[in-house]
Amino acid sequence: ARRLLQELKGKKNISLDGKEINLYANIGGLKDVAAVLSNDGGGVGLFRSEFLYIGRDSLPTEEEQFQAYKAVVETMAGKRVIIRTLDIGADKKADYLELEKEDNPALGYRAIRICLTRPDIFKTQLRAIFRASAFGKVAIMYPMITSVEELDKIHTIVAEVKKELTADKIPFKDDVEEGVMIETPAAALISDDLARKVDFFSIGTNDLTQYTLAMDRQNSRLDVFYNPHHKAILRLIRMTIENGHKGGAWVGICGELGADTTLTETFLRMGVDELSVSPSMILPVRDAIRKSHAYPEKE
Ligand code: PEP
Ligand code: MG
Repeated sequence: ARRLLQELKGKKNISLDGKEINLYANIGGLKDVAAVLSNDGGGVGLFRSEFLYIGRDSLPTEEEQFQAYKAVVETMAGKRVIIRTLDIGADKKADYLELEKEDNPALGYRAIRICLTRPDIFKTQLRAIFRASAFGKVAIMYPMITSVEELDKIHTIVAEVKKELTADKIPFKDDVEEGVMIETPAAALISDDLARKVDFFSIGTNDLTQYTLAMDRQNSRLDVFYNPHHKAILRLIRMTIENGHKGGAWVGICGELGADTTLTETFLRMGVDELSVSPSMILPVRDAIRKSHAYPEKE
């Protein structure tokens, strides 16, 4: 089976009936990029930038972040790299942020909620990402979105950052794509409104499942109840893809479910444009895509 998968390198991610999709990889940093390329990944669909922030004593500087993003972007050599802005909370350790201990960290002060109340942190990261955009094909995505108002606030801050970079004569690309993660039921349910304001969606099925089923994704006692194939999740995914397309946004999946080959055909039929999986799952998912149909059968 291994040899057969190797033979899929260099082949297209194309269904039996001719639909081609982007197959990207999830990474935590530069150390994972070699595996993306050796497994023939078409891009990075999720760069979890929080790994730059944890296990240290202070915030990473703009320059440190810029170097880290630039290294990934250059190594990917023109392939799309989607950098997710800080997704940290009371459960992931960063003592210097002095986050208060919370009873419900998954429902707490985390991710975009930190960024929107600490624009200093957010702007530093955005400057680093935009600077890296001059070295390849960068896209930005925002985690844990629940409302259009959050997105409007983000866009105001992004506009300020671009203006400042321009004033400082620092090069960046003006056409960096922006997207949101759809990983709360609220975001899925207002995906029609969100789609009109972004270039793409990336469905985070890990969190979308925990919030939709109201089950802690880290609590192994819930394993017998935890059903990622729950009809509610699949409905929200279908709805998100439909609303994304109606609003002119392309739609990917970057949660673990995207690598579930028993669902590949289901996602293709829903019209998904991109799947982002761990590097080791790229070739198995390519195999599943090439054995699936994406369109209804003709009479
Ligand atoms: C998700 O929630 O599905 C996701 C991809 O993000 P993370 O697993 O980092 O929360
Ligand atoms: Mg998530």
